[in-house]
Amino acid sequence: MPSSATLKESNQEDFAELHQYQTKRATVPAMEELLYEPIKLLDHGFLRVVDYMGDDSAIVQAARVSYGKGTKQLNQDRGLIRYLMRHWHTTPFEMCELKLHVKLPIFIARQWIRHRTANVNEYSARYSILDREFYVPAKEHLAAQSQINNQGRGDVLQGAEAARVLDILKSDSETSYNHYLEMLNINEANDQLVDPNKQGVARELARMNLSLNFYTQWYWKIDLHNLLHFVMLRADPHAQYEIRVYADAILEIIKNWVPFTYEAFMDYRMNSISLSAQMKEVVTRMLRGEQVSQENSGLTAREWAELSERLLSKV
Ligand SMILES: Cc1cc2nc3c(=O)[nH]c(=O)nc-3n(C[C@H](O)[C@H](O)[C@H](O)COP(=O)(O)OP(=O)(O)OC[C@H]3O[C@@H](n4cnc5c(N)ncnc54)[C@H](O)[C@@H]3O)c2cc1C
Repeated sequence: MPSSATLKESNQEDFAELHQYQTKRATVPAMEELLYEPIKLLDHGFLRVVDYMGDDSAIVQAARVSYGKGTKQLNQDRGLIRYLMRHWHTTPFEMCELKLHVKLPIFIARQWIRHRTANVNEYSARYSILDREFYVPAKEHLAAQSQINNQGRGDVLQGAEAARVLDILKSDSETSYNHYLEMLNINEANDQLVDPNKQGVARELARMNLSLNFYTQWYWKIDLHNLLHFVMLRADPHAQYEIRVYADAILEIIKNWVPFTYEAFMDYRMNSISLSAQMKEVVTRMLRGEQVSQENSGLTAREWAELSERLLSKV
């Protein structure tokens, strides 16, 4: 009977021990340290680096092909990487690849899978039995609906209301998992049939009763350019907390893997802001010493609030 235990046992570390490779390829000591080590996230999730290709110098090497002899002034790797990032010359960043093993709640996997430029292989709940592992938010992340953002959270729930919500989440998840096993006719302790006279429903059907907070796993491979795009969207404060923790962990991996790229990305993407033509006009008027308010700015109240947020949140 295949179960997720099979997957855990056949881990990459054993594989690596069996195959002691020597390589002429560029390696990054900090990434070698990180390889296969699970970074624990949420209550049962993790993310670990399974493989990587390239480093900062691979980006520079690719870029120099396109610039040839014309770029002698850009002979510093850091300077060239900053130039590429600043001028949206993105293809050299596609020369690096990262492969991750990720364990994440299904409702976060649904957001994650929207990033179409990765290669994905997901754990099959048609083939294997899912573990009794479901996400329950920590108390400090159990919040009310935001009053100002339809796609966000407001104040943290308190007291009896918080306790009741946690109770519902846990008991519903336990109940649906118990029914999942019952439909499969499987004994959780030994993976054997509970009643040998019953067939049990197919795994591909039984799983539909599980809720979105159950965990799934996948291997996910992506090039650095598209990875930065993912991080830009998902490490942003507007992204849901539960995907943000994964994006933040990936950002930390990028910092170890390609430090010059990380620095340029933080300066020219993550910590930069974009302004519309009207917003730019407002900033220009302010710099000229004019008193600009929302009323005389030509911006809607919402745009004005967004301009303030952009200018003030990054300082
Ligand atoms: C805060 C937030 C809220 C969101 N809310 C919603 C929501 O309410 N509903 C919802 O459905 N989604 C929502 N999304 C998902 C969002 O709309 C995108 O699907 C997701 O962020 C992936 O972005 P992407 O297409 O740029 O990324 P990727 O799929 O990784 O693509 C990267 C880039 O490749 C190019 N590309 C890839 N595929 C194509 C293609 N087929 N055609 C043209 N260009 C392509 C585009 O330039 C794209 O930007 C939300 C995302 C965020 C971050």
